[in-house]
Amino acid sequence: MAIQTDGIVLKNKKIKSIYFLLELDCPSIANETKPGQFVMLRTSDDNHPLLRRPFSIYKSYSTLHPRKRKRGHLFILYKKVGKGTQKMSTFKEGEKVNLIGPLGNGFILPPLPSSATSILVGGGVGMASLSALGEVLGSGKLYVFIGGKTKDDILCEDDFPKGKVFIATEDGSRGKKGTVVDLFLSEIERFDRGRPHNVYICGPEGMVKSLSKALKSKKWIIQVSLEARMGCGFGACWGCVVKTRDTEMAYQRVCKDGPVFPLSEIVWE
Ligand SMILES: Cc1cc2nc3c(=O)[nH]c(=O)nc-3n(C[C@H](O)[C@H](O)[C@H](O)COP(=O)(O)OP(=O)(O)OC[C@H]3O[C@@H](n4cnc5c(N)ncnc54)[C@H](O)[C@@H]3O)c2cc1C
Repeated sequence: MAIQTDGIVLKNKKIKSIYFLLELDCPSIANETKPGQFVMLRTSDDNHPLLRRPFSIYKSYSTLHPRKRKRGHLFILYKKVGKGTQKMSTFKEGEKVNLIGPLGNGFILPPLPSSATSILVGGGVGMASLSALGEVLGSGKLYVFIGGKTKDDILCEDDFPKGKVFIATEDGSRGKKGTVVDLFLSEIERFDRGRPHNVYICGPEGMVKSLSKALKSKKWIIQVSLEARMGCGFGACWGCVVKTRDTEMAYQRVCKDGPVFPLSEIVWE
């Protein structure tokens, strides 16, 4: 169940260009999270900006975790894009940060037997929720496709020690030149032997839409974590709806009914 609580900033450091890693001491949320869930974080005490901002839980360690020194810690990987994330980048060690979480449904783990192949496709900070997922996937093969505009946008590549990682950048500064979707589609033969796979996607809307089109005919189990502008984060304001094929409730809330949906359920408008 989601709670509102304060986390204490343990570290807040730039990892590269405009990307930062925030480490909080926040046991009450860290104890409850699963991959694909998020928090709504208050970025400022002065109400500028007024609305909390949604961030995926990148890593969390429960109070029973074997890594004693990380117990109760929660990590957020964020990109400085506007007013809220600019304020976050100034958080200092020891500061209190107010959060609501964990929110959303998270990924379903894993719908096929744990020995099935899993494929992760992510762009930019979309990798934060896929990284959390990678840690809990079963014993099957793991392929990870990571994309970004430039090499500075390639995140989390070291988070998948058991996976085979593929990288694409639009400017060709790392990995294959082009989009991560192009790269994934060029490698698809590798997986396309009639077997079902678990596929998990998170990234910008353009990337998700292209994948949705390209994978329409596949009988794979594809889950997508959507990003949307959010008001409340817990289903009250209906500010983040997405159109789905659900016959009873065509418009669903990314925050409460998602952010993870079966890709085939989404109707792109
Ligand atoms: C479920 C969920 C999980 C997310 N996880 C992460 C994460 O792990 N790390 C991370 O860095 N970001 C994540 N985001 C996006 C993050 O919430 C926004 O970048 C943040 O709210 C921007 O706040 P701001 O005040 O800095 O920018 P604003 O001043 O509000 O906006 C600056 C620019 O960013 C664009 N923007 C703002 N929010 C979004 C959004 N949700 N989707 C697309 N464009 C947006 C605006 O259109 C504008 O161009 C997530 C969003 C959702 C919905």
